[in-house]
Amino acid sequence: MSTPQFPSRRAELYRNVPDDQWNDWRWQLSHRLNSLEEIGQVLELSESEKKALSQKGLFRVDVTPYFISLINPMDPNDPVRRQVIPTDRELSAFTGMMEDSLAEDAHSPVPGLVHRYPDRALMLVTTQCASYCRYCTRGRIVGDPSATFSREEMDAQIAYLEKTPQIRDVLLSGGDPLVLAPKLLEELLTRLRAIPHIEIVRIGSRVPVFMPMRITEELCQMLAQFHPLWLNIHVNHPNEITAELAQATDRLLRAGIPLGNQSVLLAGINDCVNIQRKLVQDLVRIRVRPYYLYICDLVEGVGHFRTPVSKGIEIIEGLRGHTSGFAVPTFVVDAPGGGGKIPVMPNYVISSSDHKVVLRNYEGFISTYEEPQDYQSHDPSTCAYCQHPRVEGGQTGVLGLLEGKQMSIKPQGFDQLHMRGEEAHRLRLDDNKWKPLGIGGGEEEKKE
Ligand SMILES: *Cc1c(COP(=O)(O)O)cnc(C)c1O
Repeated sequence: MSTPQFPSRRAELYRNVPDDQWNDWRWQLSHRLNSLEEIGQVLELSESEKKALSQKGLFRVDVTPYFISLINPMDPNDPVRRQVIPTDRELSAFTGMMEDSLAEDAHSPVPGLVHRYPDRALMLVTTQCASYCRYCTRGRIVGDPSATFSREEMDAQIAYLEKTPQIRDVLLSGGDPLVLAPKLLEELLTRLRAIPHIEIVRIGSRVPVFMPMRITEELCQMLAQFHPLWLNIHVNHPNEITAELAQATDRLLRAGIPLGNQSVLLAGINDCVNIQRKLVQDLVRIRVRPYYLYICDLVEGVGHFRTPVSKGIEIIEGLRGHTSGFAVPTFVVDAPGGGGKIPVMPNYVISSSDHKVVLRNYEGFISTYEEPQDYQSHDPSTCAYCQHPRVEGGQTGVLGLLEGKQMSIKPQGFDQLHMRGEEAHRLRLDDNKWKPLGIGGGEEEKKE
């Protein structure tokens, strides 16, 4: 086996800290840096950083000694630094900015549980993290210890999951679930596992990146009781991939936990095809599969990190075909207003006819795929999965159009807007005229 070599760093300030303290996550948590004075002991601070760090009411600052050690102290544009050290650019507003751009609160049947998709739900289990990302999408609650979820709220979240059998996948997020007290996390996982319809549990955590020493054998054994359990980490730049992170991911993987990575596309940090290619290649070396690349959400304080959507398309163009297929993440725009994640990618289909598709590859080579002219379409009447769909209704959308459940999707107010002309004229119109013969709303077909 070839063991990947990744660097291990310790800032000058920590040179004399004994290893047993440095490698203790409790020491790392209790020695986090958050003030101008503390951070100034490790980094040469710019005027802009000093101004932000002196500001009252700023989104919470806290960095573990381990993570701040990855920063080049003399480089104000260091990609790790820009993720955790504020600048005065955070204080600027921008067009489109919102408090809760993903409308998560509006999609929460109980506080802290977001049920947006048919078969899975997002559970916010704490507002605390090991360090705080300057571009946090949940800055409205994250970092504020008084906003954290109470035991009653956790009970209400679990009660909702118990009575909602279509949820088969629960994602734990926050905040960071791996900063919860170990007993509390174990209790939570036990209660989720006791719900028969919950097939998988996922954890989203940046603890392996901010504080890899937290990933102890003991923690991994505790987590391994709750399989199938998946975990997504959050790495944005190759400089975050260290010997310590590699050891943490190795431990999690040995405990049988498949690992993915979610990144955020950030101006001045990773908005570069070459950085992204190195990032995804180093991730697969530590056996972490790139999962999503997100565009920055429209929340306060993140204006200077935003990029055009086209930057993400360009990055995918530079990855797909150019490197291992499983190293290519899906670039998504989490739709403002609560539409969920929308994948965005380069176009590969150039044209098509009834039996040919014209496609281009990553190099610009153009090819054709000859389609069958005698395709025997899948027959739902003899398919066990079609006869017993396990999901409840509501899975319509464009899939519903393809399945013939409806012919069009109308925006709100569409019918009223198009009721033009005189009342007398409208009354003469027959609504059935523009319904395809034979579909008629789908009712007749069901009767056989
Ligand atoms: C991202 C997200 C999920 C999970 O989406 P996947 O595409 O299955 O990873 C579920 N619920 C909410 C509210 C989310 O934001």
